[in-house]
Amino acid sequence: MPRYFIWTIGCQMNKAESRQIAGYLDSAGYRVTTSFSNADLVVLNTCVVRQSAEHKVLGTLGLLKGLKSKRPNLRILVTGCFVNSHPQELRRRFPHVDLLYKPGDYPELVAWGQKQGIPVEQRLPRYARNDSRAASPPCALIPIIQGCDNFCSYCIVPYRRGREASRPSEEIVCEVRELAGKGTEEVTLVGQNVDSYGHDLPGRPDLADLLSELSNVDDLVRIRFLTNHPKDMSLKLIETMASLDKVCEHLELPAQSGNNYMLKAMRRDYTVEQFRDLVHTIRHKIPHVSLSTDMIVGFPGETEEQFEQSLSLVREMRFDVVHVAAYSPRQGTVACREYQDDIPAEVKKERLNRIEELQTAIATEINSQLQGQEMEVLAEGKKGGKWFGRSRSNKLVFFEDAGDWLGQLVKIQIQKTSPWSLKGQVKK
Ligand code: SF4
Repeated sequence: MPRYFIWTIGCQMNKAESRQIAGYLDSAGYRVTTSFSNADLVVLNTCVVRQSAEHKVLGTLGLLKGLKSKRPNLRILVTGCFVNSHPQELRRRFPHVDLLYKPGDYPELVAWGQKQGIPVEQRLPRYARNDSRAASPPCALIPIIQGCDNFCSYCIVPYRRGREASRPSEEIVCEVRELAGKGTEEVTLVGQNVDSYGHDLPGRPDLADLLSELSNVDDLVRIRFLTNHPKDMSLKLIETMASLDKVCEHLELPAQSGNNYMLKAMRRDYTVEQFRDLVHTIRHKIPHVSLSTDMIVGFPGETEEQFEQSLSLVREMRFDVVHVAAYSPRQGTVACREYQDDIPAEVKKERLNRIEELQTAIATEINSQLQGQEMEVLAEGKKGGKWFGRSRSNKLVFFEDAGDWLGQLVKIQIQKTSPWSLKGQVKK
């Protein structure tokens, strides 16, 4: 039986697509393996959001060139954001790669597979079906929209993934139904901007409509979605989220900065005031919602005062989680072309540390209030002998127990808290 290995870096979209590719290869009779060295087919699912990620991809392609010279039958496929709109140029630079295809372009993958004699079910639609006969994982990522139309000034994604293209809702519902039938209890709908889902489909269904449809899938217990864009999140979506039991009380809502001038330079198309109002509306409609955000520090021209406004926003909003990144210029973006990367590295690092320190203190306080509480956790697996899973509010919870809890909803009494995770025991 031929073996495959999928190397994935980058965002949740890539992870979701890798799962779909794995489903396709499983259904074609391939067996998964754990390294390049014993695989017959390798898929690189790439990210180039940061220059360092692109270097990692180039390094891995170099490694595979060496492997292929020793094992000419090794098949190498490359997808993800590394595959830009000039695939001919990439083919010329990397002749040892058998197929380069754009993220989500499953027909191209399948057409290549057919030429290689990899069997494919006739009913295969635009996406690679998860036809693996194996049980599905408790939690699955489901891509619902490809690409992005926003062109934030620092981001390369729209140039690599292209314009937004939504998957038809019937296709998504069908995939989720299949997964739920095989054991998946929680799905996370993913896209660069899930809030613009459906605007390019006939009848213009939106994310709220999709959530309502998915709520009717039997055996599915939880639904999440990410990432949201503050300028596109509608009241209808918030109200739908509040009204559907299966939709978890958790949102990823990137703020990026607490200063309007910076937001404008980033081309985010909302103001701090609008962001604040949106958070207040969400918290009013969904009282126990947990919020995660992203912040960028050291964007070109960011003054100490402007940075302090970001710090104030974090202090005021009391997010559950803050992912903070120091700005680094990405070739091919507007920010790289038009602005000078003028904030010294040590200043960026210091700003990043200050946000992280503040957030650690906030998360410590928020999580300590959960001490002694009972939480429903979906057990996803084991790490270091302990079970782990997430609560509806996306808190990572560990517990020790001799039972087999994989894929089960467990009531956990929280005994210990930290800013990053919780620990507890099964409530008998
Ligand atoms: S919304 Fe902005 S940051 Fe997010 S993928 Fe689109 S362009 Fe990039």
